[in-house]
Amino acid sequence: MAKREKKRHGIRILLVLTYVFTGIIPLFLLSNVVFSTTEKYYIEERKKELLNQANILSGHIVISNYMFDKDKAAEFTQDIAQTSSQGDFRIIVTDSMGTVVNDSNKTEINKTYLIPEVIEALDNKDVAREQPNGSIYAVASIVDSTGENVGAVLIADMPTDIKDRMEVIRKQVYIMTIAIVLIVLIIVFIFSQMITEPIEKMVKTISQMADGHLERRIQVSNLGQSEIMELGVAVNNMAEKLEQVDISRQQFVSNVSHELKTPLSSIKVLSESMLLNTEAPREMYVEFLQDINSEIDRMTEIINDLLTLVRLDQKEIPVNFKTERLNNIVGDIVKRLMPLAQKKNIVLEYEEVQEVIAEIDSMKFTLAVSNLVDNAIKYTDEGGHVKVILDCDHQNAFITVSDTGVGIADDEIGRIFDRFYRVDKTRDRETGGTGLGLSITHSTILMHNGSIKVSSRENEGTTFVVRIPLMHSKS
Ligand code: ADP
Repeated sequence: MAKREKKRHGIRILLVLTYVFTGIIPLFLLSNVVFSTTEKYYIEERKKELLNQANILSGHIVISNYMFDKDKAAEFTQDIAQTSSQGDFRIIVTDSMGTVVNDSNKTEINKTYLIPEVIEALDNKDVAREQPNGSIYAVASIVDSTGENVGAVLIADMPTDIKDRMEVIRKQVYIMTIAIVLIVLIIVFIFSQMITEPIEKMVKTISQMADGHLERRIQVSNLGQSEIMELGVAVNNMAEKLEQVDISRQQFVSNVSHELKTPLSSIKVLSESMLLNTEAPREMYVEFLQDINSEIDRMTEIINDLLTLVRLDQKEIPVNFKTERLNNIVGDIVKRLMPLAQKKNIVLEYEEVQEVIAEIDSMKFTLAVSNLVDNAIKYTDEGGHVKVILDCDHQNAFITVSDTGVGIADDEIGRIFDRFYRVDKTRDRETGGTGLGLSITHSTILMHNGSIKVSSRENEGTTFVVRIPLMHSKS
């Protein structure tokens, strides 16, 4: 339980981290870039504006001849004071030597004021520059009508309004960012809940399945159309398969017990009657022992078939693919089973349409095809006909085994490959089948990535068609 709790947080943390890295951090970085660019833009604009003002003032000073007409000193001071209070900045005017001739703050008059910006202006280079304390100095040279530099006008402004404005915007953006972060966090929380809740339910059901409740299913109807729903469907399918395997395993075990019980009880009855009839003649003993012997043969046959099947299932016998000429292999099978057919007066015919070379495991292939031919002979009455045809196309080999025998009813045909399945138990006891032959054939053909098809008509005959790829691909 604790583990599950941990996992749920895992997804949630992952979602939050993803969101932080892809959303919040870039959002903060972006807003900071926007802030600084905007601030820089405003400051640049302000610099241009101040330089413009300084130039206008410089022109005004020249026209009014403030620098040289001593009578206009009061007017000059008043002009400077007025412009300074209008623009809310300080104005300092120096002569060509850098000596302050007018200062809106009055503190620097007659002092030498050779700061770098003034020096540059006296050299005819107008500049506007931001100072370390945040204020802006814009300096314009004063050039008289003869083109001579007679001084400089300095405007010093502290752009507090810009800073204040930026501060307000910054605060608003921060509030908005925090609000967005909170909203998105809530959404992420809800989303993660939506993702983890069905997973948690699924894990619960899967755990119950693991505990043996294979009949449990995940409710996929309330999972929407998501991948989680697909996962649910896949798990349900898997459970279905496991349940089938479980059922067929139980059936298999009960079938095995049943199949072995029949000959065992015959042996028991035979031996008991021998024990009771101690005076019985020798011929009777021999007859009973012969019966016991054939029952033991039957048990051995069942056990051998079972062992082959189990080994095929466990893939204990590795599939040993080799390029073989199927004409020879099928020919040998037909030759080996010919005496069986002749005994029943059955015509066993072999038709090779063409040469067929394929990659097969000859032992398993022989087992599969022998079972089919053996069955065809077994389930065909005396005087019948069994035909084996070998053919191929570009990709597959085809082995057809058809007979003119008893046939299989439509409702039985789907089950003949099941283990221990026999169409007619009493008939098969006479023919000596175990009901395992076709299962073995089916398994071996699947190992060759092939397929087997059957068509049949009762009392007319049966045809099995085996398809096996010529080339064995490892995929
Ligand atoms: P068995 O050992 O009984 O032959 P199989 O697995 O080989 O077991 O076959 C299963 C059942 O399918 C048989 O019992 C038989 O009823 C039916 N069957 C198989 N082959 C044929 C056939 N060629 N013609 C008619 N019935 C067949």
